[in-house]
Amino acid sequence: MGTEDKIVSWICRLTVITAFFLVGIVIGWFVRTTHVNHGQTSKSFLRDLLDEMQAENIKQHLRKFTRLPHLAGSQQNLILAEQIRDEWMKFGLDLVQLVPYDVLLSYPNKTNPNYISIVDHVGNEIFNTSLAEPVPEGYEHVKDIVPPYNAFSAKGQPEGDLVYVNYGRTEDFFKLDRDLGINCTGKIVIARYGKIFRGNKVKNAMLAGAKGIILYSDPKDYCAEGVEPYPKGWNLPGGGAQRGNVLNLNGAGDPLTPGYPAKEYTYRYPAEDGVGLPKIPVHPIGYHDAIQLLKNMGGPDPPDNWKGALNISYRIGPGFTAGIEQNKVRMNVHTNNQVTRIYNVIGWLRGAVEPDRYIILGGHRDAWVFGGIDPVSGAAVVHETVRAAGKLMSRGWRPRRTVIFASWDAEEFGLLGSTEWAEDNARILQERAVAYINADSAIEGMYTLRVDCTPSLHNIVYDITKKVTSPEVGEEKMSLYESWHKRDNWTEQNLPRISKLGSGSDFEAYFIRLGIASGRARYTKNSKTERYSSYPVYHSVYETYEIVERFYDPGFRRLEAVARVRGGLIFSLADSVILPLNCEEYASSLNRYANSIYQLAHKHPDAMKQYHMSFDSLFSAVGNFTDAARDIHQRLTHLDTSDALAVRMINDQLMYLERAFIDPLGLPGRPFYRHIIFAPSSHNKYAGESFPGIYDALFDIENAAEPHKSWEEVKRQISIAAFTVNAAAVTLMPVI
Ligand code: GLU
Ligand code: ASP
Ligand code: CA
Ligand code: ZN
Ligand code: ZN
Repeated sequence: MGTEDKIVSWICRLTVITAFFLVGIVIGWFVRTTHVNHGQTSKSFLRDLLDEMQAENIKQHLRKFTRLPHLAGSQQNLILAEQIRDEWMKFGLDLVQLVPYDVLLSYPNKTNPNYISIVDHVGNEIFNTSLAEPVPEGYEHVKDIVPPYNAFSAKGQPEGDLVYVNYGRTEDFFKLDRDLGINCTGKIVIARYGKIFRGNKVKNAMLAGAKGIILYSDPKDYCAEGVEPYPKGWNLPGGGAQRGNVLNLNGAGDPLTPGYPAKEYTYRYPAEDGVGLPKIPVHPIGYHDAIQLLKNMGGPDPPDNWKGALNISYRIGPGFTAGIEQNKVRMNVHTNNQVTRIYNVIGWLRGAVEPDRYIILGGHRDAWVFGGIDPVSGAAVVHETVRAAGKLMSRGWRPRRTVIFASWDAEEFGLLGSTEWAEDNARILQERAVAYINADSAIEGMYTLRVDCTPSLHNIVYDITKKVTSPEVGEEKMSLYESWHKRDNWTEQNLPRISKLGSGSDFEAYFIRLGIASGRARYTKNSKTERYSSYPVYHSVYETYEIVERFYDPGFRRLEAVARVRGGLIFSLADSVILPLNCEEYASSLNRYANSIYQLAHKHPDAMKQYHMSFDSLFSAVGNFTDAARDIHQRLTHLDTSDALAVRMINDQLMYLERAFIDPLGLPGRPFYRHIIFAPSSHNKYAGESFPGIYDALFDIENAAEPHKSWEEVKRQISIAAFTVNAAAVTLMPVI
C-alpha cells in the first residue's frame, strides 16, 4: 500500500469508528427516552428470530461459500472474508472489520510432493502412495486443491520397518510395550484415524521413539455399513484421505507467539522453539494405499479389536512378512512451515442497554478444500443468524447486550484465528464477555442434536430446543427437545444428553483459557456409534455442497434447526434481563465430577490408606458451592427487576462464575489450560476431562516410578480443586 492509500484507509477507519460511536450515542438516547422496541416484547422478538431463519436461505449461503477451496492463508479465503464483511454490513451490523494476524501455517511443497513408498532391498521404490485424491465430478477444473497432508509435519525421508499401532492411543502404546513387548524405537508406525485427535497420536508415536507416523482411514471407522462411497453415498472412497494438523499446542494458538497476538511487531520465537510442532514426519493416506502397506506385514496377529475392516490379515510387525522382510517403508515429506497472514471477520451489534456486555457467536471460515460440512455448514448458519438479527433490527429490535459475530481463520491449523483474537482482546473479554457459542460444522450425522456446553447453560439449551420444531420427517408436531430426548436419553437425568466441552474447535481459548461460559450444538449421528471419528469424508475433497444437499440434509431442515438453537441461545443470552445462567446446574455437575474422581482414586484403596488421601476438602467445597448456588437463585426470585443496579450486580455474579474457575497458573505443564473444572483430555484433545489436574495426577499411578511423590501431587491437585470450587462459591454469595 502506498502512503496515500494508507492515509485514505485510515480516514475510512476513523470515519467508521466515529460513525459507530455516533450510532451508539443516538441509540443510547433513543433507548433512554423511548425505552423498549416499539412495544414488542423480547419474547416475541425471539419467536420472530427463530422463524426468520429459514432452510432455503441456509442452503443458498452454503452453495455460495463452497464453490472454491478456501484454505487459510489463500487468496480465496481473503476474498471470502471480504464478501462476508460486506454482507454482514448490508444485513445491518453496526461495524464489521477484518482483523489480520501473521501466524505460522504449513503447506506442502508444490514442486516436491509428499508420498510414502515401499522400497526393495536394492533401493527401488516398488510402490508409491497416490499424490492426490480423485476429484469429484463437476470440480475437475478447480485449481488449488491442496493434496492430503498433515499440517506442521516435520520434513524428512525416514526409512524403516512398519509397526501397526491401532489408533495410536496411550492405551494402544501401553499394550504394545507392556503386553506385546514390541518396541517402536526407530520404527515407522502406522495408526488408523479415529477415536482421538490426530495430534495426540503423533505425540504418542514420538514418545515411543518412532521416526515417522502414517495415518490412514480404515473402512471400519470411515465407512458406514450399507452405504456407498461418495458420490453414490456418503462413505469415504478408497482414494480419499483425511487432512489435518498434528500440533500439540495445549491452547497456545500461533506456535511462534504464545500468550500474545501475532501482529507485525510481535516477537516471534525461532521456528525450532515453536510450541507443539512435531519432530517426526507425518502423512495421511486412504484405505486403497493403506492396503498395500498393511497386507504384507509380518509379526504377531493383533488383538481382535485392533482389526479394521480391510480384507487383509492385520499384523503388528515390525516389518514385512518372511521373504520380503528386506523391504522397507520410506516416507517422503517436504511440507514447509510459513508465517502467513490470516483474517478474522469480526462483526458488532451494539447492545442497547448494556453495550459493555458481550455475547459471542464464532465459527471458522477456513476449510481444507470446499468445506461443504466443515466449516461451511456452520458458517452458513452464522450468516443466516446475522441476516435474521439484521431483519429484527429493521423492525425496531436491538439486543440488551452487545453481540459479536466472528468468522475465524486458520482453525484447521490449530485454532489460530480465534486464539490470537482472544489474546489480543483478553483484557476486555475477561471483563465483559458473558458467553461464547461456537459455530463450527452444524452437522456430522443425520440422527439428532448434540450439545456440549458448560453446566450453567444446560437449562437455557433445554428451553430453546423446546421452542424449535423437530427437523425430522414425520415429527412435524414434535419439538426438537422431544425428538432429541427420544433419540438420546441421558439416563441418569432422564433428559436429553448434554456432554462436557472438550476441544478441537474455536471455543477453546474462550472457555478453557479465559473462563467464558461456552457451548456448541450441531446435528449428529447416533452416539452409540463412535463419537470422535467424525463423519466418513471429514477433511477430504469429498466435503462438497452436494454431499449435504444429497445426503446429510436434503431439505436443509436440520441445519435450520441448528441455526435456531445457536441463534436462540445468542438471543436469550443477549436479551434476557437476568442472564439465563444456572448455578445450581453447575453445582450438580460438580457433585457428579467430584464423586467420579473420588471413585477413580478409590481404584487404589491400599495407596489411599497408605498415603492418607482424603477428598473431604473437595466434597466440603462442593457442598458450599451447592448452598451458594441455591441461595443466589433464591435471591433471584424476589429481585426487583426495575432496580437496574441490583440487576447488574447479580448478573455480574452470574457472568463471572465461569471466570472464577480459572487458575492464573494453569494446569501442570499446560499454562494456557487454566480452567480447573474442565480441560481437554491429555490423551485426546477432542474429549473433555473434569477435574483434569486430579485426573492427570492419578493417571497410571500404579506404575509410577516414585509412588510417594505421585500421591503427593494428587494431594496438591485435590487442594487446588477444593480451593477453586470454594472461591467460586464465595463469588455467588450476597455482596455486603
Ligand atoms: N478442528 C481441527 C481438527 O480437528 C483443528 C483442531 C485443533 O487444532 O484443535 O483437525
Ligand atoms: N469438525 C471438528 C469439530 O468441531 C473441528 C474441525 O476439524 O474443524 O469437532
Ligand atoms: Ca499468539
Ligand atoms: Zn471445523
Ligand atoms: Zn476441520
